[in-house]
Amino acid sequence: MAGRGRAPVRERPAASGQPRARAAPRGLLDRPAAAARDRRRHADGPRAEPLPRFRRPAAVLPPRGRRGRRAGREHLRRDRAGHARLRPRTGPRFPADQHHPRRRRGRPQGPHLPADRGPAALRGAGARDPGSEAQRALRRADALRGGARARALPARLRGAARGRPPGPASRTDDGGNLRHAAGRDRARRIPGARPAHLAHADPQALARLAHLRGRSPATGVSRDTDSPASVGGEPAAGHRIAVVGAGWAGLSAALRLAEAGRRVALFDAAPTSGGRARTVELATPLGRFEIDNGQHLIVGAYRETLALIERLGAGALLGRAPLSLGSPAGLRMRAARLPAPLHLAWALATARGLGPGARRATLRLMLQLRRANWRGVAGETVTALLARHRQPPALVARLWAPLCIGALNTLPGEACAASFAAVLRDTLGADRRASDFVTPHAPLGRLLPEPAVERLRALGASIRFRTPVRRLEARADPATGRARWRIDDGEFDQAVLAMAPWSAARLLEASDIPPGPIGDFAPEPIATAWALWPANAAPALPRWSLLDEDEGRCRHGQWLFDRGTVSPLETLPLPETLSPLEPGPAPAGARPGPARLAGIVISVASRLDALTPEAVVAGVSAQLAEAFGGPPPAAVKLVTERRATFRCTPDRPRLGADQLRRQAPGLWLAGDWLWPDYPATLEAAVRSGTDTALRILDARTAPGTVV
Ligand SMILES: Cc1cc2nc3c(=O)[nH]c(=O)nc-3n(C[C@H](O)[C@H](O)[C@H](O)COP(=O)(O)OP(=O)(O)OC[C@H]3O[C@@H](n4cnc5c(N)ncnc54)[C@H](O)[C@@H]3O)c2cc1C
Repeated sequence: MAGRGRAPVRERPAASGQPRARAAPRGLLDRPAAAARDRRRHADGPRAEPLPRFRRPAAVLPPRGRRGRRAGREHLRRDRAGHARLRPRTGPRFPADQHHPRRRRGRPQGPHLPADRGPAALRGAGARDPGSEAQRALRRADALRGGARARALPARLRGAARGRPPGPASRTDDGGNLRHAAGRDRARRIPGARPAHLAHADPQALARLAHLRGRSPATGVSRDTDSPASVGGEPAAGHRIAVVGAGWAGLSAALRLAEAGRRVALFDAAPTSGGRARTVELATPLGRFEIDNGQHLIVGAYRETLALIERLGAGALLGRAPLSLGSPAGLRMRAARLPAPLHLAWALATARGLGPGARRATLRLMLQLRRANWRGVAGETVTALLARHRQPPALVARLWAPLCIGALNTLPGEACAASFAAVLRDTLGADRRASDFVTPHAPLGRLLPEPAVERLRALGASIRFRTPVRRLEARADPATGRARWRIDDGEFDQAVLAMAPWSAARLLEASDIPPGPIGDFAPEPIATAWALWPANAAPALPRWSLLDEDEGRCRHGQWLFDRGTVSPLETLPLPETLSPLEPGPAPAGARPGPARLAGIVISVASRLDALTPEAVVAGVSAQLAEAFGGPPPAAVKLVTERRATFRCTPDRPRLGADQLRRQAPGLWLAGDWLWPDYPATLEAAVRSGTDTALRILDARTAPGTVV
């Protein structure tokens, strides 16, 4: 079929009834002589070819004069004008030095100008238009320098060559009376911006004042730590919603409910707010200091947390800096102030301590995770994820493992790949500000827990510290038939259990409510070694740094955060115990004074169980000396939170705020363990608290209804 179809194209057709026409002459198809002639005519350009596309139609065109019409040009080249339109111009295709030498009529041929050797070659060849006599003289003078040049100039042009043009005449308001620049005069220098990560005296003083205001002048006891009986406001019996737990989840839930006009009662077993992210007092040989119960890393991706801190008026206590990672072993990465993902591309392109293969592997992992919508394989661990994406072992040891341990508080071999991918998605994979490091200038309590309690009080909420809730009792409301919850001495339409999963499971069991999968979370400790130096004898520390962990040599520190200079609390009245973590009198021989404070984080601290605290402290001190040199710290205090976070494994339960809706209607959950695919973080706690409050406020989830 195909052969038959092509036949009429190859052979000239014959009219019906006529003898078969003669085959087209060969010259019609190929005219080398004409092509050569054309080439000569144009003097350059590629060898002219008959237009190949026209070969076949040429064969079927009728010969000249046939049917009374003029035949086309035999070789099917167009006339000159048409040809020029069809053929691209040859000029731009050839380097200028291959062009035909310019011919100027009636004049000698110009020099051949090699265009590829720059303007110097042109100048050497005297290619410029010689112009008039005066211009020629000027050009000669151009080549001379200094006085010789001035002499070569015509007399009327010499003035211009002598020195600089005269300055403007001095006037009274021309600024000549201003003082010279500050230069080395320190007193006159305008101070530069202070480093954002260091604690500043002003916010500290303001925070201290606010703190003092919150204390009873008579007893010196903070209002937060008031006994339940002394808390003012309405009795709890009148409140409709109880929030049990004044951690970051409970506080954000209570705030959202109180701001929506609900009557809220907040209970906590502890003497202060903040839960696992709170301020504690620590006695050291340099004095008693307010510090965090554990060094927390806050990043720009914590949108809800940062927005809430801003809303509570504590935003000024936060500093921000672009992502940068470094380690004493030589890793250096710093994101640029460019839009995402260029900020990260820059960080990778300029990274030190990562070879080209490692950088490519990092980029590949990020791109492939993004393509997979940041979802891993179900049940996959971080180690399996990294192996699947062919990450070199050195890169895993230097970058991915410390990030995984720091973010998930779980070793990569057990950690959940989906949660790790979610962290990467919201930090490195999101916009530039999401990967910023946010550094507080004050202890954690001042950022959210204390201002939140103040605001709740202003909204009329009842707040009860030192009030452990030991049992929840359900009672059917005779009027509505709905469940009401009896907590402490009050009755509530709804209750939010905003506590760690193990605390919630214990409370539910005590209340004869089966906790189900809530009891399946396993806790994992985090230890923070707080190192203090006298402020005037501290080593030069980076703002933050990865530390090269080496378990074999008892070097357990993973991250260091420089918290700047902090002042002791000596001006404040003494509370009953010096520290909830280390009760007892201040150490003998203490010399109080401002101190430089650094937090050294040891995640997955269950690995320290076999070691004494002294051994860990000695290891951390040696690690600091090796990494940064300088004098050893005057004191290192190890603070270990045994139940810091849940172990973020792939098989941990995934639960919702309304997990108890069937067996305990009106009982809600909030906490860092309830935000899908997130590890235990402040952001997960705040998001979960807000989400639970919004569900309660939702009209479809009326009090006590089974959802
Ligand atoms: C040392 C350490 C380091 C951390 N590092 C980071 C970090 O770098 N970045 C980060 O984002 N997160 C970090 N976290 C995790 C973060 O602190 C938590 O995820 C977050 O604080 C959890 O808040 P929450 O409100 O869900 O729970 P919690 O803070 O545990 O609040 C629960 C509250 O409920 C109270 N409570 C419990 N049971 C009862 C009861 N029966 N009656 C009355 N009250 C009760 C408790 O006293 C507590 O105040 C760290 C945690 C620790 C401990």
